[in-house]
Amino acid sequence: MIKYQRKKMTHVVCNCCGKEILVEKEIIKEGIFYGRICWGYFSKRDGLEDSFELCEECYDNIVATFKIPIDRKVSLELL
Ligand SMILES: [Zn+2]
Repeated sequence: MIKYQRKKMTHVVCNCCGKEILVEKEIIKEGIFYGRICWGYFSKRDGLEDSFELCEECYDNIVATFKIPIDRKVSLELL
């Protein structure tokens, strides 16, 4: 969950465990997973938009439960 005050990002909290993510001058200083979806016509949630944020630990714990491992690529050039 990302909180804003006067259009400035002030707090980021992991939706899974509640951990407060370090934010300095609107820059997120930790790894974070952003989940966003606008549900489509053939879903049971047509017209709804969901979003959440996860800290790295919760991300690791959740993907570790997948039956099929995630795809992971290594980026050689970081911007
Ligand atoms: Zn977490």
